[in-house]
Amino acid sequence: MKFTQPILPYPPDALMPAISPVTIDYHYGKHEKAYIDNLNRLIEGTPFEDMPLERIIMESDGPLFNNASQAWNHIFYFFQFMPKGQKVPGGRLMEQIEMQYGSFEDFQRQFEESGASIFGSGWIWLANDADGKLEIIKGSNAENPLTRNLNPILVFDVWEHAYYLDYQNRRADYLHRLWDIVDWSVVESRYPF
Ligand code: MN
Repeated sequence: MKFTQPILPYPPDALMPAISPVTIDYHYGKHEKAYIDNLNRLIEGTPFEDMPLERIIMESDGPLFNNASQAWNHIFYFFQFMPKGQKVPGGRLMEQIEMQYGSFEDFQRQFEESGASIFGSGWIWLANDADGKLEIIKGSNAENPLTRNLNPILVFDVWEHAYYLDYQNRRADYLHRLWDIVDWSVVESRYPF
């Protein structure tokens, strides 16, 4: 087993009520685990076996890309949450958000609307380019901004498995509630400016 699933830095009930322990049990315990298990099975005995996960994402397609990217995306997703994290961005990231979106609240609204409008399964991302400019990116299925040479800093999972147990079809409510658990100190640490 080349890749192991990282243990969550909080207990399963820590993200309530935004995300229930039952959803953690299925989403982290079964869905994320399955992507990592599939990834390990697909790279066994191939040149991908010795590559870092980011390079596999850049150089693969088909089932290997899907499972590698989904493994990366889920680790990135679950590690940006913390029950008592930093509630708003600060420093250079906040300056950039205000410059591009007017205010933090306007950015949040636009991010939620973009996520709610994804047709089918996918991810809503905030990423930056080489100059630090931010971009809200809608990704279908396993898509990841790394393949566009952008640096992801925040992501909300909009596959139904991420919210259906807690919110049923109310995707917009789920997206809105996630702001309660995002730890902006983690997001800031991903923004290299
Ligand atoms: Mn998911």
